[in-house]
Amino acid sequence: MSDDRNRLGFLQPATQFPPKIGLRSPAAPLLLAAVTDQSFFPTSEILGARGDQQSAFHERAADTRTRRFGRQVFLRGVVEVSNYCRENCSYCGMRRDNRQLSRFRAQFNQLAELLIQFRPASITDLNIQTGEDPVVIRELVLPLVELLRRETPLGVSVCLGTLNKSLYRELRSAGASIYIIKFEIADPRLYTRMRAPGTFRERVEHIRLLAHSGWNVSSGFIAGLPDQTDADLLANFALARELPLDGCSVSPFIPGDETPLSGAPTADIDLTLNCMAALRLMRPDWVIPAVSALNLAEPGCGYGRGLRTGANLVTINLTPSELRGDYLLYKRDRFIMTEERILSAISAEGLIPSKQSLAGFYQQRKIDRLLSRSRTVEAAAV
Ligand code: SAH
Ligand code: SF4
Repeated sequence: MSDDRNRLGFLQPATQFPPKIGLRSPAAPLLLAAVTDQSFFPTSEILGARGDQQSAFHERAADTRTRRFGRQVFLRGVVEVSNYCRENCSYCGMRRDNRQLSRFRAQFNQLAELLIQFRPASITDLNIQTGEDPVVIRELVLPLVELLRRETPLGVSVCLGTLNKSLYRELRSAGASIYIIKFEIADPRLYTRMRAPGTFRERVEHIRLLAHSGWNVSSGFIAGLPDQTDADLLANFALARELPLDGCSVSPFIPGDETPLSGAPTADIDLTLNCMAALRLMRPDWVIPAVSALNLAEPGCGYGRGLRTGANLVTINLTPSELRGDYLLYKRDRFIMTEERILSAISAEGLIPSKQSLAGFYQQRKIDRLLSRSRTVEAAAV
């Protein structure tokens, strides 16, 4: 490790920073100063931390979340509306070459009734997710976004893969404002080997295009893929840091049923959680989700541990039960995050559901930033 880093991988700030990680009260003001200058970048050593060093690292990340966002976490629902996919990612059961999978597109009326009349009271946002299926966007997603914006106060996120500019525009006009599009893998060679969507270059271009055309973009990567080296893993942080993002996720690699990687080992949960903590310290202002796959990587406690590394977004699965089994991102035997499970997981960590929607939060933050920029310009002109 180089001399200018402390043992948690922090670049040493200009003022000396005692390595009192994990001591909540005395270290708190120094901690705030150190994490808000965005000088943190992880090392392989910190991503491999275990035991006391790991606990202190996670505690520090969770403290950073609490300082920035308070005890509130955003609660979003997700509906998975089609498992048709024109892509062929080696890690995903919905890849086009999986001929065993029976394909579905959800019914508009069924989702409309569910979301308008029977959605859980705790959610403030809804995410619409699908395999890469332009047909379902026209048939169902666009009218559903319009309906939700007209009939409910929900903020709308979409996770639909790489589309074209005109579909992005139509989705935005319909009222969706958050686009979730993971870059998946930052190393272009591994990206190609894993047959991740389209090309690496195109995926990154679309992330930039979306952000520059007014979307709030959340991206992310997969930790623990077969053949992923330490350098590949660190490259994910370098790429995430330079992209125009509002949020970022880490998913543990789960050897998907009916994929060429079904026999590969599941990602190490500790590695995944260390990546989440590192993201939080690298970007205290990002919205970072706890993904349901954490409970597949460590049944029973992965999810709760994710919340303890500084996550501030949780997702309740609202996909109609008869469709869920065929939405084959990971395993047929899914761990479904219901409202009850989510509320008890967050309250066990002393967290509370946000009353403000994530979409509303981003909008407010944009306004605040514009106002503060114009005040700075005015002050400079005086
Ligand atoms: N088709 C869209 C959205 C649905 S897939 C898209 O690809 O963007 C949502 C995410 O599931 C993908 O971004 C991918 O990172 C993740 N995923 C799929 N299979 C996975 C696996 N076996 N392990 C971990 N993450 C996986
Ligand atoms: Fe399709 Fe997304 Fe699965 Fe890739 S990860 S096969 S794009 S659903």
